[in-house]
Amino acid sequence: MKESIESIKDKLKETGFKITPQRRAILEILLENDDKHLSSEEIYDMVRVSCPEIGLATVYRTIQLLSEVGLLSKLNLDDGCIRYEIRLNKDEKHNHHHLICEKCGKIIETKEDLLDGIEELIREQYKFNVSDHDIKFFGICEDCQKI
Ligand SMILES: [Zn+2]
Ligand SMILES: [Zn+2]
Ligand SMILES: [Zn+2]
Repeated sequence: MKESIESIKDKLKETGFKITPQRRAILEILLENDDKHLSSEEIYDMVRVSCPEIGLATVYRTIQLLSEVGLLSKLNLDDGCIRYEIRLNKDEKHNHHHLICEKCGKIIETKEDLLDGIEELIREQYKFNVSDHDIKFFGICEDCQKI
């Protein structure tokens, strides 16, 4: 289920984040592409279609602010390009995981946390409370296995 820009606005208001028309345009792009992982340059290119006067610096700053309030998560594939995705699911306590195909570069998301058991083990053995994790699995996707 897609969340509307209005409910995000409420969340942003609580954090003191002001929604300008340019920031709104960026949020709309992020919401429309909530299944993708976009680089700041890609976000910039898309947002310029509806908002031609926007500058790259504004895009960077907005991404930074949205990350700070926890609405964006970063995906770093160590290829020199950081990707972003909007984080809407309130039930999602922790970051989901990414499966990255080494052949076609496709990024698949696991919808489940999958780590509850490991987190429990860490809590017991190391007295450590896990607040989040950032896990990437590398391998070959289903389509590429058929080739
Ligand atoms: Zn977790
Ligand atoms: Zn593949
Ligand atoms: Zn993701």
